[in-house]
Amino acid sequence: MNPLISESVECLDWKKKAIQKSIDSGAFQNEPYLMLYNLDEFRALAKEANDNFKGLQTVAVKCNPVLNLLKEAINNGLGAEVASFGELQMAERAGFDKSKIIFDSPIKTIKELEYALNLGCIINVDNFQELEIIEKIINAFTIEKQESLSLGLRINPQVGVGKFEDLSTGVPTSKFGIAMEYKDGIVEAYKRNRWLKAVHLHVGSQGYEMEETISAIEKVMSLVEEINQQLDGQIKIFNIGGGLPINYNSETINPTFTQYGNQLKEKLPQLFDGSFLLITEFGRAYWAKCGVIVSKVEYTKTSGHRNIAIVHVGGNICIPTIYQYPVWKLRVSIFDGKGEFKSGLNDDLYQTDLAGPLCFASDLIAKQRILPLVKQSDYVMVHDCGAYLYSSYSHYNLRLAPPIYNYNSNLDQLEIIKKGETMEQKIEFFS
Ligand SMILES: *Cc1c(COP(=O)(O)O)cnc(C)c1O
Repeated sequence: MNPLISESVECLDWKKKAIQKSIDSGAFQNEPYLMLYNLDEFRALAKEANDNFKGLQTVAVKCNPVLNLLKEAINNGLGAEVASFGELQMAERAGFDKSKIIFDSPIKTIKELEYALNLGCIINVDNFQELEIIEKIINAFTIEKQESLSLGLRINPQVGVGKFEDLSTGVPTSKFGIAMEYKDGIVEAYKRNRWLKAVHLHVGSQGYEMEETISAIEKVMSLVEEINQQLDGQIKIFNIGGGLPINYNSETINPTFTQYGNQLKEKLPQLFDGSFLLITEFGRAYWAKCGVIVSKVEYTKTSGHRNIAIVHVGGNICIPTIYQYPVWKLRVSIFDGKGEFKSGLNDDLYQTDLAGPLCFASDLIAKQRILPLVKQSDYVMVHDCGAYLYSSYSHYNLRLAPPIYNYNSNLDQLEIIKKGETMEQKIEFFS
């Protein structure tokens, strides 16, 4: 018996059907790699979030700014959290109502602030200097316009580091928001400005346990209650950011929105009793597990004793995986040229590197993975790719971004979400 265990992982049924459909319909004839989504999974997650948190659920645009996917978010009752002016413009293009857009950029120019204030979306202020500029702009507005506005301060709760230091945004020295230590200045700001009706925090993404996020929320809640006592309940919007981690180790969703919602209800019932409008801003937890990338294996070779398969997915699109290996290790499944899943359970297994398409040696989507023999014209499916990857696509080496399809399981159909990038578009960027 083979002592090794195959790392060509078993996957959900829709993924097997989707790759089969992609091969049968000839999708790989023009494009060497594709992104495949299951929008039914996204819809179920959006419903679960809305059912559990009530209030306003927004999706973090930075994790997936694709126009048709933003429209899908609108159709499922979500608003948009935008972290830059570009994302704000994209959210407007998709058709989000201004009352459901949260503008959270850490660096907003005067022009961008004027635009957003005139638009009337919710704005979270990152620092006292930004607040000064906003006060000047708003003071020139009519009283009626002033009263229609809802802005918040982004409070940095100054809590501990999560598992990933570079994703922890609520540490004592974070570059984001106004540190809790400036409590007096924070209280004064709310006193001065009746339009500061919201409070915002976001302690970071992947790497925080639910409990750590909740204790950061509790910290901000006690500050809010103190301010509300002094100012007659001025803060009416409690914006808890995103940051629910996702499980990269299997197909299971864990933790779920329901688990998070239940813990929040237990620890912070004030968020659910009508005292506040609760706003969430999840990104990864909506999108990551709904999408995979599938690439043809273009070539295979051995070099020294090393087995290498060369694929089109690598540092062009899976940037965190490549540059921080193995922090963002992604599961893979191998399929043969006809679309049959190769579990490797009854086959000889080989330690194999799956090499990406870019011209640097460490561009490897999987290193020393125990796989069945990977052959030319096989396919590699990379899991949990639905968030943050397409949005951070790299132009390096001028490789074209893939087309994106939805696999509609009811109709057994591929539906185009976004066409692949064209060479003209690529050349235009550098021209
Ligand atoms: C990135 C970000 C989010 C989304 O974070 P996820 O970990 O993807 O849920 C939400 N709010 C703010 C302010 C962010 O910067």
